[in-house]
Amino acid sequence: MRNKALCALVLLLPLTGCGGSHLASLPYPPGANVTPADGYLYEGTRLAPGVWLFASPEPFHVQPYGNVTAVEQADGFVLFDSGGTPAGARRILDMLAGLSSKPVKAVVVSHWHGDHVNGLRAIRERWPKVRLIATNATRRTLTDPRVARFMPSGDTASDDAIRRNIEGAVARMRTRAAQPDLPEPLLTGNERAARELEHYGHELQGGALLVPEEGFDERLLLDDPDRPVELRFLGQANTDGDAVAWLPKQHILLTGDILVAPIPYGYGGYPREWETTLQRLKSFDFKAMVPGHGPVMRDSTYIDRLSALIAEVRARVAPLVAAGLSLDDVQKQVELSAQAQMFSGGDPWRSSLFDQYWRQPIIASAFKEAKGDPIIQGGG
Ligand SMILES: [Zn+2]
Repeated sequence: MRNKALCALVLLLPLTGCGGSHLASLPYPPGANVTPADGYLYEGTRLAPGVWLFASPEPFHVQPYGNVTAVEQADGFVLFDSGGTPAGARRILDMLAGLSSKPVKAVVVSHWHGDHVNGLRAIRERWPKVRLIATNATRRTLTDPRVARFMPSGDTASDDAIRRNIEGAVARMRTRAAQPDLPEPLLTGNERAARELEHYGHELQGGALLVPEEGFDERLLLDDPDRPVELRFLGQANTDGDAVAWLPKQHILLTGDILVAPIPYGYGGYPREWETTLQRLKSFDFKAMVPGHGPVMRDSTYIDRLSALIAEVRARVAPLVAAGLSLDDVQKQVELSAQAQMFSGGDPWRSSLFDQYWRQPIIASAFKEAKGDPIIQGGG
Protein backbone atom coordinates (compact mmCIF):
# COMPACT_ATOMS: atom_id res chain seq x y z
CA MET A 1 0.00 0.00 0.00
CA ARG A 2 1.18 3.52 -0.64
CA ASN A 3 1.38 6.05 2.16
CA LYS A 4 -0.41 3.54 4.33
CA ALA A 5 2.57 1.38 3.72
CA LEU A 6 5.13 2.79 6.01
CA CYS A 7 5.77 1.06 9.59
CA ALA A 8 6.43 0.96 14.07
CA LEU A 9 8.60 0.05 17.22
CA VAL A 10 9.67 -3.10 19.15
CA LEU A 11 12.37 -5.58 18.23
CA LEU A 12 11.72 -9.25 17.90
CA LEU A 13 13.89 -11.96 19.31
CA PRO A 14 13.66 -15.72 19.07
CA LEU A 15 11.51 -17.00 21.87
CA THR A 16 11.49 -20.71 21.50
CA GLY A 17 14.96 -21.26 20.08
CA CYS A 18 16.17 -22.50 16.73
CA GLY A 19 15.08 -26.08 16.97
CA GLY A 20 11.36 -25.37 17.18
CA SER A 21 8.96 -24.73 14.36
CA HIS A 22 7.69 -21.50 15.83
CA LEU A 23 9.41 -18.23 16.72
CA ALA A 24 7.56 -15.48 18.49
CA SER A 25 8.53 -11.87 18.68
CA LEU A 26 9.19 -9.97 21.87
CA PRO A 27 9.03 -6.25 22.49
CA TYR A 28 12.33 -4.44 22.35
CA PRO A 29 13.86 -2.92 24.31
CA PRO A 30 12.91 -5.40 27.03
CA GLY A 31 10.09 -4.02 29.10
CA ALA A 32 8.78 -1.80 26.30
CA ASN A 33 5.09 -1.25 26.66
CA VAL A 34 4.16 -2.94 23.39
CA THR A 35 1.87 -5.89 22.91
CA PRO A 36 0.85 -7.89 19.84
CA ALA A 37 -2.29 -5.76 19.80
CA ASP A 38 -0.10 -2.82 18.77
CA GLY A 39 0.75 -4.61 15.59
CA TYR A 40 4.08 -4.78 13.79
CA LEU A 41 5.18 -7.90 15.59
CA TYR A 42 6.35 -10.81 13.46
CA GLU A 43 6.05 -14.45 14.30
CA GLY A 44 8.20 -17.02 12.57
CA THR A 45 6.70 -20.32 11.42
CA ARG A 46 8.56 -23.14 9.68
CA LEU A 47 6.82 -24.05 6.42
CA ALA A 48 9.29 -26.78 5.48
CA PRO A 49 12.86 -27.63 6.49
CA GLY A 50 14.85 -24.46 5.80
CA VAL A 51 11.82 -22.37 4.84
CA TRP A 52 10.42 -19.86 7.30
CA LEU A 53 7.50 -17.47 7.15
CA PHE A 54 7.60 -14.27 9.23
CA ALA A 55 4.11 -12.85 9.53
CA SER A 56 1.88 -10.90 11.83
CA PRO A 57 -0.23 -12.98 14.22
CA GLU A 58 -3.10 -10.69 13.20
CA PRO A 59 -3.51 -10.67 9.41
CA PHE A 60 -5.31 -7.35 8.94
CA HIS A 61 -3.79 -4.01 9.86
CA VAL A 62 -4.79 -0.52 8.81
CA GLN A 63 -1.10 0.08 8.24
CA PRO A 64 -0.18 -3.20 6.60
CA TYR A 65 3.14 -4.92 6.85
CA GLY A 66 3.86 -7.66 4.43
CA ASN A 67 4.80 -11.26 5.05
CA VAL A 68 8.47 -12.15 4.71
CA THR A 69 9.62 -15.64 3.72
CA ALA A 70 13.19 -16.83 4.31
CA VAL A 71 14.68 -19.72 2.34
CA GLU A 72 17.95 -21.18 3.61
CA GLN A 73 20.27 -22.04 0.75
CA ALA A 74 23.76 -23.56 0.99
CA ASP A 75 25.49 -20.17 1.11
CA GLY A 76 22.89 -17.99 2.82
CA PHE A 77 19.27 -16.99 3.16
CA VAL A 78 17.08 -15.71 0.34
CA LEU A 79 14.33 -13.42 1.62
CA PHE A 80 11.15 -12.78 -0.29
CA ASP A 81 10.22 -9.23 0.80
CA SER A 82 12.04 -7.15 3.36
CA GLY A 83 9.62 -6.23 6.15
CA GLY A 84 7.56 -3.08 6.46
CA THR A 85 10.06 -0.94 8.36
CA PRO A 86 13.77 -0.84 9.15
CA ALA A 87 13.00 -1.98 12.70
CA GLY A 88 10.79 -4.80 11.41
CA ALA A 89 13.57 -6.01 9.12
CA ARG A 90 16.10 -5.96 11.96
CA ARG A 91 13.75 -8.09 14.05
CA ILE A 92 13.56 -10.67 11.32
CA LEU A 93 17.35 -10.64 10.93
CA ASP A 94 17.65 -11.24 14.67
CA MET A 95 15.33 -14.23 14.42
CA LEU A 96 17.29 -15.59 11.45
CA ALA A 97 20.51 -15.23 13.43
CA GLY A 98 18.94 -17.54 15.99
CA LEU A 99 18.42 -20.14 13.25
CA SER A 100 21.78 -20.04 11.47
CA SER A 101 24.99 -18.03 11.23
CA LYS A 102 24.63 -17.87 7.43
CA PRO A 103 24.35 -14.44 5.84
CA VAL A 104 21.34 -13.07 4.02
CA LYS A 105 22.55 -13.48 0.44
CA ALA A 106 19.57 -12.03 -1.46
CA VAL A 107 16.35 -10.15 -0.89
CA VAL A 108 13.65 -10.17 -3.54
CA VAL A 109 10.90 -7.59 -3.22
CA SER A 110 7.57 -8.72 -4.60
CA HIS A 111 6.48 -5.20 -5.59
CA TRP A 112 7.11 -1.54 -4.82
CA HIS A 113 4.75 -0.91 -1.90
CA GLY A 114 6.48 0.35 1.24
CA ASP A 115 5.32 -2.48 3.45
CA HIS A 116 7.49 -4.78 1.31
CA VAL A 117 10.54 -2.61 0.56
CA ASN A 118 11.14 -0.46 3.63
CA GLY A 119 13.39 -3.05 5.28
CA LEU A 120 15.93 -3.18 2.45
CA ARG A 121 18.36 -0.61 3.79
CA ALA A 122 18.47 -2.18 7.25
CA ILE A 123 19.25 -5.56 5.66
CA ARG A 124 22.01 -4.05 3.52
CA GLU A 125 23.49 -2.39 6.62
CA ARG A 126 23.71 -5.76 8.37
CA TRP A 127 24.71 -7.72 5.25
CA PRO A 128 26.58 -5.36 2.86
CA LYS A 129 27.06 -7.98 0.11
CA VAL A 130 23.37 -8.89 -0.11
CA ARG A 131 21.83 -8.94 -3.61
CA LEU A 132 18.67 -6.82 -3.84
CA ILE A 133 16.34 -8.00 -6.59
CA ALA A 134 13.00 -6.98 -8.11
CA THR A 135 11.30 -7.08 -11.48
CA ASN A 136 12.57 -4.36 -13.77
CA ALA A 137 9.06 -2.88 -13.75
CA THR A 138 9.19 -2.56 -9.96
CA ARG A 139 12.68 -1.03 -10.13
CA ARG A 140 11.46 1.55 -12.65
CA THR A 141 8.41 2.36 -10.56
CA LEU A 142 10.49 2.82 -7.41
CA THR A 143 12.46 5.58 -9.13
CA ASP A 144 9.32 7.37 -10.36
CA PRO A 145 8.77 10.59 -8.37
CA ARG A 146 5.05 9.84 -8.15
CA VAL A 147 5.92 6.77 -6.10
CA ALA A 148 9.11 7.93 -4.40
CA ARG A 149 7.19 10.68 -2.60
CA PHE A 150 5.50 8.02 -0.48
CA MET A 151 8.80 6.50 0.61
CA PRO A 152 11.12 7.57 3.41
CA SER A 153 14.20 8.98 1.71
CA GLY A 154 16.44 10.28 4.45
CA ASP A 155 15.61 13.76 3.16
CA THR A 156 14.36 15.77 6.11
CA ALA A 157 11.64 17.72 4.33
CA SER A 158 10.01 14.79 2.58
CA ASP A 159 10.30 12.53 5.61
CA ASP A 160 8.69 15.24 7.73
CA ALA A 161 5.80 15.25 5.27
CA ILE A 162 5.38 11.49 5.68
CA ARG A 163 5.55 11.88 9.46
CA ARG A 164 2.88 14.60 9.36
CA ASN A 165 0.69 12.34 7.22
CA ILE A 166 0.94 9.61 9.81
CA GLU A 167 0.27 12.01 12.68
CA GLY A 168 -2.75 13.37 10.81
CA ALA A 169 -4.13 9.87 10.29
CA VAL A 170 -3.58 9.03 13.96
CA ALA A 171 -5.42 12.19 14.99
CA ARG A 172 -8.35 11.42 12.65
CA MET A 173 -8.67 7.92 14.03
CA ARG A 174 -8.56 9.18 17.62
CA THR A 175 -11.29 11.69 16.76
CA ARG A 176 -13.44 8.94 15.29
CA ALA A 177 -12.74 6.72 18.28
CA ALA A 178 -14.14 9.45 20.51
CA GLN A 179 -17.49 9.65 18.72
CA PRO A 180 -20.07 8.26 21.14
CA ASP A 181 -22.53 7.26 18.40
CA LEU A 182 -20.08 4.95 16.62
CA PRO A 183 -20.77 1.23 17.03
CA GLU A 184 -18.46 -0.48 19.50
CA PRO A 185 -16.42 -2.53 16.97
CA LEU A 186 -15.64 0.65 15.03
CA LEU A 187 -14.66 2.53 18.17
CA THR A 188 -12.23 -0.15 19.23
CA GLY A 189 -11.04 -0.61 15.65
CA ASN A 190 -10.17 3.07 15.35
CA GLU A 191 -8.45 3.07 18.73
CA ARG A 192 -6.35 0.06 17.83
CA ALA A 193 -5.52 1.44 14.41
CA ALA A 194 -4.41 4.78 15.89
CA ARG A 195 -2.08 2.95 18.26
CA GLU A 196 -0.68 0.82 15.44
CA LEU A 197 -0.06 3.79 13.22
CA GLU A 198 1.67 5.66 16.01
CA HIS A 199 4.05 2.73 16.51
CA TYR A 200 4.53 2.56 12.80
CA GLY A 201 5.63 6.18 12.73
CA HIS A 202 8.29 5.40 15.33
CA GLU A 203 9.43 2.28 13.53
CA LEU A 204 9.86 4.05 10.26
CA GLN A 205 12.30 6.57 11.69
CA GLY A 206 15.74 6.55 10.16
CA GLY A 207 14.57 4.60 7.12
CA ALA A 208 15.43 5.49 3.56
CA LEU A 209 14.41 3.69 0.42
CA LEU A 210 16.91 1.52 -1.41
CA VAL A 211 16.03 0.59 -4.98
CA PRO A 212 17.11 -2.99 -5.78
CA GLU A 213 20.10 -2.96 -8.14
CA GLU A 214 19.31 -6.27 -9.83
CA GLY A 215 16.30 -6.73 -12.08
CA PHE A 216 14.60 -9.38 -14.18
CA ASP A 217 11.80 -9.30 -16.70
CA GLU A 218 10.34 -12.82 -16.83
CA ARG A 219 12.39 -15.24 -14.81
CA LEU A 220 15.45 -15.48 -12.57
CA LEU A 221 16.73 -18.63 -10.90
CA LEU A 222 18.48 -18.47 -7.53
CA ASP A 223 19.85 -21.97 -7.72
CA ASP A 224 20.66 -24.31 -4.87
CA PRO A 225 20.97 -28.09 -4.52
CA ASP A 226 18.19 -28.36 -1.95
CA ARG A 227 16.14 -25.19 -2.10
CA PRO A 228 16.26 -23.46 -5.46
CA VAL A 229 14.09 -20.35 -5.77
CA GLU A 230 12.62 -19.54 -9.15
CA LEU A 231 11.49 -15.93 -9.52
CA ARG A 232 8.78 -15.24 -12.06
CA PHE A 233 6.79 -12.34 -13.42
CA LEU A 234 3.39 -13.71 -14.40
CA GLY A 235 1.75 -10.45 -15.46
CA GLN A 236 0.40 -7.26 -13.94
CA ALA A 237 -1.99 -7.65 -11.03
CA ASN A 238 -1.76 -5.72 -7.79
CA THR A 239 0.94 -3.51 -9.37
CA ASP A 240 2.77 -3.25 -12.67
CA GLY A 241 5.62 -5.51 -11.57
CA ASP A 242 4.45 -8.21 -9.16
CA ALA A 243 7.07 -10.94 -8.70
CA VAL A 244 6.25 -14.41 -7.42
CA ALA A 245 8.69 -17.01 -6.09
CA TRP A 246 8.38 -20.74 -6.69
CA LEU A 247 10.20 -23.35 -4.65
CA PRO A 248 9.93 -26.35 -6.98
CA LYS A 249 11.33 -28.90 -4.53
CA GLN A 250 9.14 -27.80 -1.64
CA HIS A 251 6.11 -27.00 -3.81
CA ILE A 252 5.72 -23.65 -2.09
CA LEU A 253 4.48 -20.58 -3.99
CA LEU A 254 5.04 -17.03 -2.67
CA THR A 255 2.62 -14.64 -4.31
CA GLY A 256 3.26 -11.18 -2.85
CA ASP A 257 0.18 -8.97 -2.89
CA ILE A 258 -1.36 -10.65 -5.92
CA LEU A 259 -3.09 -12.37 -3.02
CA VAL A 260 -3.88 -10.55 0.21
CA ALA A 261 -6.19 -11.94 2.87
CA PRO A 262 -8.58 -11.33 4.43
CA ILE A 263 -9.17 -8.08 2.49
CA PRO A 264 -7.38 -7.54 -0.83
CA TYR A 265 -5.78 -4.20 -1.66
CA GLY A 266 -7.02 -2.54 -4.82
CA TYR A 267 -4.81 0.55 -5.09
CA GLY A 268 -3.41 0.94 -8.57
CA GLY A 269 -4.38 -2.61 -9.54
CA TYR A 270 -4.90 -3.84 -13.10
CA PRO A 271 -8.23 -5.71 -12.98
CA ARG A 272 -8.16 -7.41 -16.39
CA GLU A 273 -4.56 -8.60 -16.14
CA TRP A 274 -5.05 -9.49 -12.47
CA GLU A 275 -7.66 -12.08 -13.45
CA THR A 276 -5.25 -13.64 -15.94
CA THR A 277 -2.37 -13.62 -13.45
CA LEU A 278 -4.55 -15.36 -10.86
CA GLN A 279 -5.24 -18.15 -13.32
CA ARG A 280 -1.47 -18.51 -13.88
CA LEU A 281 -0.97 -18.95 -10.14
CA LYS A 282 -3.22 -21.99 -10.37
CA SER A 283 -0.87 -23.66 -12.82
CA PHE A 284 1.73 -24.21 -10.06
CA ASP A 285 1.53 -27.54 -8.31
CA PHE A 286 1.74 -25.96 -4.85
CA LYS A 287 1.25 -27.60 -1.50
CA ALA A 288 1.49 -24.28 0.31
CA MET A 289 0.92 -20.78 -0.98
CA VAL A 290 2.03 -17.70 0.98
CA PRO A 291 0.07 -14.52 0.21
CA GLY A 292 1.53 -11.04 0.64
CA HIS A 293 -0.49 -10.66 3.84
CA GLY A 294 -2.44 -13.23 5.76
CA PRO A 295 -2.02 -16.91 6.58
CA VAL A 296 -0.66 -19.74 4.43
CA MET A 297 -3.14 -21.19 1.95
CA ARG A 298 -3.29 -24.83 0.91
CA ASP A 299 -5.57 -24.75 -2.12
CA SER A 300 -6.99 -22.42 -4.77
CA THR A 301 -10.16 -21.42 -2.92
CA TYR A 302 -9.02 -17.88 -2.24
CA ILE A 303 -7.68 -17.43 -5.78
CA ASP A 304 -11.12 -18.32 -7.13
CA ARG A 305 -12.86 -16.05 -4.67
CA LEU A 306 -10.68 -13.08 -5.57
CA SER A 307 -10.96 -13.82 -9.27
CA ALA A 308 -14.76 -13.84 -9.02
CA LEU A 309 -14.67 -10.55 -7.12
CA ILE A 310 -12.56 -8.86 -9.78
CA ALA A 311 -14.76 -10.25 -12.55
CA GLU A 312 -17.84 -8.90 -10.77
CA VAL A 313 -16.36 -5.41 -10.44
CA ARG A 314 -15.34 -5.31 -14.09
CA ALA A 315 -18.72 -6.60 -15.25
CA ARG A 316 -20.56 -3.95 -13.26
CA VAL A 317 -18.31 -1.00 -14.04
CA ALA A 318 -18.00 -1.50 -17.81
CA PRO A 319 -21.67 -0.84 -18.78
CA LEU A 320 -21.80 2.24 -16.55
CA VAL A 321 -18.71 3.63 -18.25
CA ALA A 322 -20.24 2.81 -21.64
CA ALA A 323 -23.33 4.78 -20.58
CA GLY A 324 -21.13 7.80 -19.91
CA LEU A 325 -21.28 7.95 -16.12
CA SER A 326 -18.57 9.80 -14.19
CA LEU A 327 -16.28 8.00 -11.77
CA ASP A 328 -18.17 9.53 -8.85
CA ASP A 329 -21.46 8.16 -10.18
CA VAL A 330 -19.96 4.75 -10.86
CA GLN A 331 -18.62 4.68 -7.30
CA LYS A 332 -22.11 5.42 -6.01
CA GLN A 333 -23.78 2.75 -8.10
CA VAL A 334 -21.46 -0.20 -7.57
CA GLU A 335 -21.96 -1.39 -4.02
CA LEU A 336 -20.30 -4.58 -2.83
CA SER A 337 -21.74 -5.02 0.64
CA ALA A 338 -22.32 -8.77 0.25
CA GLN A 339 -18.70 -9.21 -0.87
CA ALA A 340 -17.49 -6.99 1.99
CA GLN A 341 -19.36 -9.25 4.35
CA MET A 342 -17.81 -12.36 2.85
CA PHE A 343 -14.20 -11.14 2.82
CA SER A 344 -14.41 -9.63 6.29
CA GLY A 345 -15.98 -12.76 7.75
CA GLY A 346 -18.73 -10.59 9.19
CA ASP A 347 -16.28 -8.48 11.23
CA PRO A 348 -17.78 -4.95 11.23
CA TRP A 349 -14.41 -3.18 11.47
CA ARG A 350 -12.86 -5.08 8.59
CA SER A 351 -16.06 -4.78 6.62
CA SER A 352 -15.94 -0.99 6.97
CA LEU A 353 -12.40 -0.99 5.60
CA PHE A 354 -13.20 -3.21 2.64
CA ASP A 355 -14.72 -0.13 1.04
CA GLN A 356 -11.56 1.91 1.44
CA TYR A 357 -8.98 -0.78 0.72
CA TRP A 358 -10.72 -2.60 -2.08
CA ARG A 359 -14.04 -1.30 -3.43
CA GLN A 360 -13.15 2.32 -4.13
CA PRO A 361 -9.63 1.80 -5.54
CA ILE A 362 -10.48 -1.21 -7.69
CA ILE A 363 -13.52 0.57 -9.12
CA ALA A 364 -11.24 3.50 -9.98
CA SER A 365 -8.93 1.08 -11.79
CA ALA A 366 -11.78 -0.71 -13.55
CA PHE A 367 -13.13 2.69 -14.61
CA LYS A 368 -9.79 3.62 -16.21
CA GLU A 369 -9.53 0.20 -17.82
CA ALA A 370 -13.03 0.48 -19.33
CA LYS A 371 -12.25 3.93 -20.69
CA GLY A 372 -8.91 2.80 -22.08
CA ASP A 373 -7.00 5.17 -19.79
CA PRO A 374 -3.63 4.11 -18.37
CA ILE A 375 -3.33 2.90 -14.79
CA ILE A 376 -0.24 4.59 -13.36
CA GLN A 377 1.45 3.51 -10.16
CA GLY A 378 1.38 6.28 -7.57
CA GLY A 379 -0.75 8.31 -9.96
CA GLY A 380 -3.95 8.26 -7.92
ZN1 LIG B 1 1.47 -5.30 1.05
